[in-house]
Amino acid sequence: MTRYEYYEQMKALARNVRAEHGLTTPRVLRSDLRRIYKAYEIKIDLRQGFKNLRGAYFNDDCGATVVIAKGLPADPTVFTMGHELKHHLADRETPGFQCSYSPSTTDQVEIAAEIFAAELIFPETEFLRLLTDAGVSPGTCTAEHLVRLKHETRTTLSYQGLAKRADFMKLAAAGTFNGVQFTKLEERIYGKPFRRPAKHRRAARPPQ
Ligand SMILES: [Zn+2]
Repeated sequence: MTRYEYYEQMKALARNVRAEHGLTTPRVLRSDLRRIYKAYEIKIDLRQGFKNLRGAYFNDDCGATVVIAKGLPADPTVFTMGHELKHHLADRETPGFQCSYSPSTTDQVEIAAEIFAAELIFPETEFLRLLTDAGVSPGTCTAEHLVRLKHETRTTLSYQGLAKRADFMKLAAAGTFNGVQFTKLEERIYGKPFRRPAKHRRAARPPQ
């Protein structure tokens, strides 16, 4: 099997999990993953003190356990739970994984887990369809397109994940997202989610 075939197989597996567990939007929550884990009888162990690890998977006599760094924000938790679910479904013959997600990793088993998690949250075909509807053609996707996509779908896939995919699918010109601060851009387009108390705002200028 080529690397391409392996990754495609993992995407298909993720779409099967979505179909079997009634995930129909790109907004997948921790409660969805908890429900899926329960169905597969995977125990969740939230643990403090993980330095460089986001998650780990163990399968031994006691059954399958996924360890997740406690205090990780909601969206990265969903992604990490998706990542570890791939190890459970596809790599069970290996006794354990400790997953640190270095972007420079060349480990295909780990890369495939990232691809699986992204597809589980936001299937590629849906991503392509929504961006095409928004007028994006190959090479023309901008950071603003991704901000609008995230805002409209309320997807739990991170900006980093969306940008990585737009790059990979060649929807964006090379380097489009380098140095982009998505949250700041989102604030410029949609405003800050919460206003600061009035006393911290700059006083209005007196009329001239
Ligand atoms: Zn992993």
